[in-house]
Amino acid sequence: MPTAPPPHHPLQFASDNYSGICPEALDYLLKANQGDVPAYGDDEWTQKAADKFRETFEIDCEVFFVFNGTAANSLTLASLCQSYHSVICHELAHVETDECGAPEFASNGSKLLLAKGDNGKLDPVDVERLISKRTDIHYPKPKVISLTQATEVGTLYSTDELAALSDLARHHGLKVHMDGARFANALVASDKTPAELTWQAGIDVLCCCGTKNGMGIGEAILFFDRALAEDFAYRCKQAGQLCSKMRFISAPWLGLLETGAWLRNADHANRMAAYLEQQLRQIPELNILFPRQANGVFVQMPQALTEELYRRGWQFYTFIGSDGARLMCAWNTTTAAIDALVGDIKQALAQ
Ligand SMILES: *Cc1c(COP(=O)(O)O)cnc(C)c1O
Repeated sequence: MPTAPPPHHPLQFASDNYSGICPEALDYLLKANQGDVPAYGDDEWTQKAADKFRETFEIDCEVFFVFNGTAANSLTLASLCQSYHSVICHELAHVETDECGAPEFASNGSKLLLAKGDNGKLDPVDVERLISKRTDIHYPKPKVISLTQATEVGTLYSTDELAALSDLARHHGLKVHMDGARFANALVASDKTPAELTWQAGIDVLCCCGTKNGMGIGEAILFFDRALAEDFAYRCKQAGQLCSKMRFISAPWLGLLETGAWLRNADHANRMAAYLEQQLRQIPELNILFPRQANGVFVQMPQALTEELYRRGWQFYTFIGSDGARLMCAWNTTTAAIDALVGDIKQALAQ
């Protein structure tokens, strides 16, 4: 992420990872803090959380827990590729713009090939162009399509769009990776099941949203095709991503899944974003940039307004074009915070 504005404001829209730990995750974290249990994931919490994922996704998948999303994406992509392979992703993809080359580093050089597409979504025509443009030995062989759900600009792939991309992948012998840092937001915004939105639509591996959903630390990785997970545990260990006190990642995950908090948190964040969008649409100087489908609102605002809001201590990122602000909502965003922001915007514009 680019540099955030400096002043601290108690109410912020910078990212859903600015938020704290949600009560359910914290409750299970404390419950797990009883006595001694086996380390490195050989404990009951980890077993239960993995089983709960299998139940939730209706498939006997392989489940791993790592510390963060960059590690989840990078290690997953590395496991799907040899160093001479390439990964096709959107030009705005987090793996390209915000992981400091970690996918290339973890894979010993697998190259990311950037595809275009409106609204942050891969355009199958451009993906196919990248896959078939070269077949000679001098070009890194395309091996994976990586897509983000919900996308970096807060939009969603429909199951039809997912199926179109994964059909393309199958046809050319590629695998499909889903960066689901905001998977729950996409899930609750659709009327689909976790299974329908992933493996039934041809997704091979999902990196699933812990931190931004309401945990303190920890992402889950689900290999729907178990064969692809071969030796993945070794890769995690070598990369320093095997948490010895694994229960403190897996127990909060169990809490999110078992209580349904992961869906409530995402639904709340999406609703707050919908409310924010509705308020912003009433201000003629502003222009909503992408269809608002999840928990982020992207809005074009005059530079002077951005500066005035920063001066007033509001926090948000402006990395879309030159005057696009990203306003993210989280499990703990309040209508009061939104009203305060909208009030400040109106006041600043009237100055
Ligand atoms: C936040 C985010 C991640 C994970 O980032 P970490 O800071 O490494 O946890 C991955 N993908 C997307 C799209 C994200 O927004």
